[in-house]
Amino acid sequence: MFGLSSPIRFSIAAIVLQAAGLCGVLASAQGASTAPPGTIPPKVPETPELRVFDPSLIDTTVDPCDNFYRFSCNGWFKRNPLPADQTSYGRFTELFELNRLHLRQILEEAAVPAAARSANEQKIGDEYASCMEVATVNKAGLTPLQPELDRISALQSAAGLPQLIGHLHVIGVNAFFGMGSGQDYADSSAVISFYGAGGLGLPERDYYTRMDAKSVELRQQYAAHVRKIFALAGEPDAQAASDAETVLAIETRLAKASLTMTEERDPQNLNHPTDVASFTKQLTHFSLADYVAAAHAPAAGKMDDMEPKFFAEFNALAADTPLNKIKTYLRWHLLHAYAGTSLPESFDRETWSFYAHILNGAEKQQERWKRCTSRVDDELGEALGQVYVARYFPPAEKQRTLEMTLAIEQAMDKDITALDWMSAETKVKAKEKLHAVMNKIGYPDNWRDYSKLEIVRGDALGNAMRTHQFDQARDLAKIGKPVDKGEWEMTPPTVNAYYGSQMNNVNFPAGYLQPPFFSGKEDDAANYGDMGSTIGHELTHGFDDEGRQFDKDGNLKNWWNADDERKFTDRADCMVKQYDAIEAVPGVHLNGKLTLGENLADLGGLWLAWLAWLEKADAAHLDMAAKTGGYTPDQRFWIAYAQQWCTQTRPEQLRTQAQSDPHAPDEYRTNTVLQDLPEFAKSFSCRKTAAMVIQKPCRVW
Ligand SMILES: [Zn+2]
Repeated sequence: MFGLSSPIRFSIAAIVLQAAGLCGVLASAQGASTAPPGTIPPKVPETPELRVFDPSLIDTTVDPCDNFYRFSCNGWFKRNPLPADQTSYGRFTELFELNRLHLRQILEEAAVPAAARSANEQKIGDEYASCMEVATVNKAGLTPLQPELDRISALQSAAGLPQLIGHLHVIGVNAFFGMGSGQDYADSSAVISFYGAGGLGLPERDYYTRMDAKSVELRQQYAAHVRKIFALAGEPDAQAASDAETVLAIETRLAKASLTMTEERDPQNLNHPTDVASFTKQLTHFSLADYVAAAHAPAAGKMDDMEPKFFAEFNALAADTPLNKIKTYLRWHLLHAYAGTSLPESFDRETWSFYAHILNGAEKQQERWKRCTSRVDDELGEALGQVYVARYFPPAEKQRTLEMTLAIEQAMDKDITALDWMSAETKVKAKEKLHAVMNKIGYPDNWRDYSKLEIVRGDALGNAMRTHQFDQARDLAKIGKPVDKGEWEMTPPTVNAYYGSQMNNVNFPAGYLQPPFFSGKEDDAANYGDMGSTIGHELTHGFDDEGRQFDKDGNLKNWWNADDERKFTDRADCMVKQYDAIEAVPGVHLNGKLTLGENLADLGGLWLAWLAWLEKADAAHLDMAAKTGGYTPDQRFWIAYAQQWCTQTRPEQLRTQAQSDPHAPDEYRTNTVLQDLPEFAKSFSCRKTAAMVIQKPCRVW
C-alpha cells in the first residue's frame, strides 16, 4: 500500500488484504502554502506522455542478459533524478503525482464557494480549503485539541481508563490496541468485532527489539522526536525528556508482546474466536463494558482476539503502570495522531523530520497542496473519486481491463491443469476457488454516502476528528449485517491494487489503470507485460502461502491434502531461500518469509500474464518476428514488465523497506523474478553463463 507505513490507524482489513505494489513509498511532508484555494484553479501542467513500453528508456550499453533491470530502466533513471521531497521515486510515483495534479484541479474547483456545489463538492472543497489555510491552523495552535488534552489530564483513576481509550479510538488515536469490524475467519459471510495489537509509534514491533547499532540509534532519535513534540505542546524540557522515556518504555513493552510481521502474515496466528463476555473476563484490570460503551462497539456476541499474548500483557500493564505514565503515553498518541496538517506547522515539520527525513531519507518537505490533496483522498476518497473517474476512466478502458482479467483467469485454469506436482483432487478445489473470484475494476458500483459527515470550512482539526468518527461508525455498523462484497478498501484514484482473501476478490482502482501501467493506445504485448502481470499478481495472492489457506468462499478452511501441502511448501521454500540470500543494503538481507506471499504473486502473476498473452498473440496470428521500437513482441512484453519497476530509492528508505516491507525492492521484483522464468532468457537468447540465467529456478504456480 501507498504511504508511510502508518502506525496511526489500525485496520483489520489491512491484515487480510494483499496489495500489489508499493509500500512505505511516500513519506509525509509539508511545506509552504500556495495561493489560497477557492481563487483561481491552477491548470494541470503539461507533463511528458507516459508509455507502457518505452524504448527511449532502454540502455543499450547494458546486456539484457546481464542486468535486465538496468537495461530496461537506465534511461528512466537518467531522466528522473530523485526529487528532494521524495524518499523514493519510480513509475508508481510518476503516476501518483500526475493523479495528484488531477485531483488538485478537482479540489481547487470544488473549493470555490458556489451555491451550485453538490453536497459532496461542498465537503471535498471545504475540507481541502480548511487544510490549505495554514495561517488559520497556526493561529489556532493547540486550542482545538485542548478539550481532548483536558480529558486525558482529568483522568483520576485507572477505573476511568477504558472509557477514555474507547473515546480516543473513536477519534482515531492509536492508543494501546485496535478494535474494528471484520469477516469471521470461520464464516466469511458474518461480520464480527476484532481486537488487535496496536499502540506503537515506530513502524513495527521489531524496531523496538533489534539491538544493532543503527536500530539503537533510531530508537534514540525516536525518543528525541517524542520529546520535541511534548516540548512543542508546552512541557518544560526536562519533563519532556522524561516523558519521552516513558512513552518508549510502554511502547517497548507492547511491542515485545506483539506478533512479528512475519507471524502476522499467517492468518492462523490471528484466528482466536471468542465472545465479548469471555474476553471481558480475561481483562481483569480493564472494564471492557466501559470501553465498548464509549467506543460504540458491540457489548456481546462473537469476536476475535487476534493476539491473546498481547492482550494479556496489556491487562498486566493496565494494572501495574502508574496512572501518570499512562496519561503521558495517551497524550503522545493524541498529539501524534493529529500532528499532520491539523496542527500548527511546528508539529507538522517535526513529524516530517522524524518519519520522512530520519526514517526514510527525504530531504525536503512536500508542498502543502500535495499533502492536503492526499488528505482529502484519504478522508473522502469516494466523493473525490467519483469526479476523478468521470474525467479520467472511460468505460472502454474498464471493458478492456475486464477482458484482460478474464483472459488471465483462463490462463490460470490451464496452468492448474498442467501442474505436475498437484493431485487431481486438490486441482478441482483450486479451480473452484479460481472460478469464484470476483473481479472489481475501477470504482464501486454504489458510492459511499457521506451525508452524515459534517465538514466545516476553517476547522481542519474538527474535520479530521469528525471524519474518524464517521469512519469508525461506518465500520462498526457492519457488525451483524450481511457482508457488502461491493465495498472497496482502496479509493478510486489509488495507484495500487489488492486481493481480498476473505472476499475472494481482486480489486483494481481506476487510478492505477493508467499509463505507464496500462494504456488503451498500446498493444497487448505491453499491456499484458505490465498491467497483466499485476492482474496475475493479485490473482496469485489467492493461492500464495497466506491466501491458499482460505477456501472459495473466503473461509479459513484447509482444502489441500497433506501431500499437496508438503509439495507446495517445498516449492515455496525455494523462494524463501532465494530472497533470504539477497543483501539489500550492507548488513541487511531481505526476509524470505516476510516477502514470500509477494514474491510468489510476482512470479506467478508474470507467468500467468505470459501464458494469457501467448494465447492472445496466437489467436491473432501475431508476427512474432516483427519489431516495434527495435524489439520483438515477446521482448517488449518483458521490457514492459521491467519498466513498471524503474525506481530510485534513498538508502534510508531501502533499509526501512528491507526490514519491514512484505514486498521485495523493485530491482529484485524485476531481475530475481525473471531469473526464475527461463522463457525470458529465451526471448533474449541469453547464454547459460549469463547473470540473468540461474541453474535451478524456483517455481510454484
Ligand atoms: Zn501483492
